[in-house]
Amino acid sequence: MYKSFLIKYGEIAIKGKNRYLFEEALVKQIRYALQYIDGTFKVRRLQGRIYVDTLSDYDYDEVIQALSHVFGIVGICPVVLIEDKGFDDLAKAVIDYLNQVYPDKNLTFKVQARRARKNYPMDSMELNAALGEKILDAFPEMKVDVHHPDVLLCVEIREEINIYSKEIKGPGGMPVGTNGKAMLLLSGGIDSPVAGYMIAKRGVGIDAVYFHAPPYTSERAKQKVIDLARIISRYAGPILLHVVNFTDIQLNIYEHCPHEELTIIMRRYMMKIAEHFALENNCLGLVTGESIGQVASQTMQSLAATNAVCTLPVYRPLIGFDKNEIIEISEKVDAYETSIQPFEDCCTIFVAKHPVTKPNVRVIERSEKKLDGIIEELMKTAFETAEVIKIEPED
Ligand code: ATP
Ligand code: MG
Repeated sequence: MYKSFLIKYGEIAIKGKNRYLFEEALVKQIRYALQYIDGTFKVRRLQGRIYVDTLSDYDYDEVIQALSHVFGIVGICPVVLIEDKGFDDLAKAVIDYLNQVYPDKNLTFKVQARRARKNYPMDSMELNAALGEKILDAFPEMKVDVHHPDVLLCVEIREEINIYSKEIKGPGGMPVGTNGKAMLLLSGGIDSPVAGYMIAKRGVGIDAVYFHAPPYTSERAKQKVIDLARIISRYAGPILLHVVNFTDIQLNIYEHCPHEELTIIMRRYMMKIAEHFALENNCLGLVTGESIGQVASQTMQSLAATNAVCTLPVYRPLIGFDKNEIIEISEKVDAYETSIQPFEDCCTIFVAKHPVTKPNVRVIERSEKKLDGIIEELMKTAFETAEVIKIEPED
């Protein structure tokens, strides 16, 4: 029965030019989300509002689902829009609306009229009273409750009249594209996809880099990362995924450096390579799924040692999260089932029995000297042979 959806967004915090950019980006992201479902839709802005009009048959749940992936949306209201043909016509539309949306009339209600167009002959108080009366006449079972109504019936007099009473919660955040782009180090684990989701929620677009080590890691492990990128792209928009062959670099680290430092040294090279692709793609920072103390390579000292090789800021949106909190978000965004599939990612192959937990940057740098004369060429090859895959949500 609904031909349109009214999109509510956090309007208070954004003013002036930023508001325009916010709305532009939001419209773009809504269109992006809707292109993957069946139906023809029109997204339009009108007087500080965004509407999605449906121009064909559509599946209600699918539309809600698609819109609930769009950051910046605070609420989704299925709405009936009518032309202003006088009060009697409005009252009839309101009765029709209640009839269709609430088959069981054993409900309390409150009318909340708003007159955004001041030339309407009745003010909002008069509208509340007059519509309330019509509703009570039409449905004697319904009762007024101004404090805790079952149905809060919103009637907004604008260019068109908006009638709605349901609001489905949106994901909040800011529309992707309003805050630049970052390079996500995406593994097949639980954490990094969640980190990507969190950073995208703040309006940041994402590209990604994945390090694999064939034949030590399988095609299935790579496919898992592609699947995870696809899940994130439902929220973050298209992702350029750089698949970097890391095998030779890892083997050389293994051969030339102390084994208890393998993980740290390897992580430092990952960061360096990720930064190369970040700069190439106009990314303003790197993003990882690290959280303090989760594993040996995520102590404060280890994080400092990894950080030391980067010139771009490294964003770690999960830094203060416990594992169970991360899992909760992973489940919410539908990544968890994919993340826990049992395929090795490259780190688990070359792990030392007793990794250093408090690495000293000077010591690590000295160990890395052993790679001089080899690593430059290996890095160059890694840059040149990276496979770039454009990831979009599947339809
Ligand atoms: P995750 O669940 O994200 O894999 P983790 O708990 O396994 O994280 P680590 O293996 O120490 O932690 O990795 C820390 C971070 O380094 C990851 O969150 C990710 O951002 C990055 N990372 C690790 N391995 C890879 C990889 N093979 N490719 C790309 N990034 C990686
Ligand atoms: Mg991992």
